[in-house]
Amino acid sequence: MKYYLTTPIYYVNAAPHIGHAYTTIAANTIKRWKRMQGYDVVLTSGTDEHGQKIERAAAAAGKTPQQFTDIISAEFQRQWEILGLGIDRFQRTTAANHAAQVQDLFRRCLDNGYIYKGSYSGQYCVFDELYVNDAKAGDPCPECGRPTETVSEENYYFKLSAFQQKLLDLYEKHPDFICPETRRNEVLAFVKQGLSDLSISRTTIKWGIPVPNEDKHVFYVWFDALTAYMSAVAGENLWPADLHLIGKEIVRFHAIYWPAFLMAADLPLPKQIFAHGWLLFENDKMSKSRGNIVRATPIHTVLGTDALRYFLMREVVFGQDGSFSYDALVGRYNSDLANGLGNLASRTLAMIHQYRNGVIPACDGNQQIAQSVQEITAIVMECLDRFEFSKALEGVWSVIGAVDKYIVEQAPWKLAKGGDPEAKRLDEVLYTAAEALRIVTATLAPMLPESAAKIWAQLGFATPLDAVKTADLHWGHLQGGQKLGLAGAVFPRADVKASIEKMMELEKSEVARQMELLGQKPQPDPVAAAAVTASGSPVITIDDFGKVDLRVGLVKDAAAVKGSDKLLHLHVDIGEAEPRSIMAGIAGAYKPEALVGRKVVIVANLAPRKLRGIESQGMIVAASREGDVPVLASFLEDVPVGARLK
Ligand SMILES: [Zn+2]
Repeated sequence: MKYYLTTPIYYVNAAPHIGHAYTTIAANTIKRWKRMQGYDVVLTSGTDEHGQKIERAAAAAGKTPQQFTDIISAEFQRQWEILGLGIDRFQRTTAANHAAQVQDLFRRCLDNGYIYKGSYSGQYCVFDELYVNDAKAGDPCPECGRPTETVSEENYYFKLSAFQQKLLDLYEKHPDFICPETRRNEVLAFVKQGLSDLSISRTTIKWGIPVPNEDKHVFYVWFDALTAYMSAVAGENLWPADLHLIGKEIVRFHAIYWPAFLMAADLPLPKQIFAHGWLLFENDKMSKSRGNIVRATPIHTVLGTDALRYFLMREVVFGQDGSFSYDALVGRYNSDLANGLGNLASRTLAMIHQYRNGVIPACDGNQQIAQSVQEITAIVMECLDRFEFSKALEGVWSVIGAVDKYIVEQAPWKLAKGGDPEAKRLDEVLYTAAEALRIVTATLAPMLPESAAKIWAQLGFATPLDAVKTADLHWGHLQGGQKLGLAGAVFPRADVKASIEKMMELEKSEVARQMELLGQKPQPDPVAAAAVTASGSPVITIDDFGKVDLRVGLVKDAAAVKGSDKLLHLHVDIGEAEPRSIMAGIAGAYKPEALVGRKVVIVANLAPRKLRGIESQGMIVAASREGDVPVLASFLEDVPVGARLK
């Protein structure tokens, strides 16, 4: 049984951020869940690379459109690899296989009489690549508010007006075609108002797929982009898609235009379109101009991808808008993952290691817990089928809570001290906790794949977690006698302040890296930019300078370093109990014997480091111009050893 699902074909006007990651993580979760149900799942993502906006963005970056889109498209692919999102097909709209697919769709619609040549003169929004009917010169775009431009051009039109009733019939016959219901209602209301024909070609743009036999025309971006879902799996017997996962801002294109194009071409329609809500930043819309865009990779580096996955799936009701903040992210990580799941796992496994030598006892387990785990797991599976991730996770955490409570009530640490009857009860407690942990772990695998695999291995399973199917989620599959794997913390507690600072710091360097890729200069921080001296060095405060501990030292001995013609190894007395061992790159300028008895300046609080296997406990201060030999700093008057330079 096949299951074909897609993320949007992301527009490459910006590098990927957490919003793109949100959709793609959800898609990966669904992919894993469907695979657990026994489907052969194929997940497509890709990049939408044509259009005037890209042409202009590329020009602004001093690049050709192809260079520009190559860079950003590679960033998307890199991002999904880092996050481990298992993209099976990555379709670029600039790929040759795709152009053929778009031209084929056009010919089919044309042959069936749904495409005609017309012309348009009026207002046009470059940003949305949208004709704004009934607008006057200078009017803002109703979609984005940017000023429209006056254009007059010949186009090919798609007879969207012919599909009003057909679309309404489709929505009625397949009530799940558009989910969730709020989005379905919006689309229904829009279609019921009546549909105008849609221009599907442009003559004002060069960066696009050419319309067959029309050298001046290229395809309008949506006619081009949507078709990528088919190009990605052409010739593979995977079409139609079972699910297009999208953000709510593009629901109209997917739920109205796309099925209309396909109906006009006599091609099968996707089975479902699910539009999720927006991810806000501290309840504010993320945008470039607000400077509050968050990227996923810093979170991956500091807390792990599962922390991000858990937060997004748990905190945001899938389908509604939700809010991201670093505080909430780390809070959830510590309370739910480190304390909740992590604690149950480490406690259960530690008890089996301690009381039963790491071997799971043979037993049926506590029947009350067994029943409750079965019931809740059934509900969790239903939630996953409806993409209600938040509810599913609530269910799993209620199991975790119930098992925790059960362990505390049974007090296994007391049973361990008793005789035979207590030993039997201890077996039951240990088996119950381990079997519940097994089911929890397997159920969580689609949402927390990396951590679940770790716990799985700690439970001692030789078969990979990926091979587990929903049928294995029944109580009693765990066999007594199984030897546990090596224990280890899956979710080490995070220091709130330090981890947030680290993520924000990485966020800054990620932005700088992406700007450099595009040949853009990072926006200088106005405060930092002003704080540069005439020589180009950053201005520092007296407190900054005070952090450097400069001391007068006396060279006690000096020796050449084997294998190095630059380094000397010195011992320098700075008034401490022992002279400092210091490596200095001054062999080209000074003979070792000439240094003994000389007073020098030492940076005394530099972190020690090893050079050629010898620890250097400070740095000797010398001056030089680029390429010249260094000259040691020294004093005209006498000065005591250990005196501080200020
Ligand atoms: Zn606009």
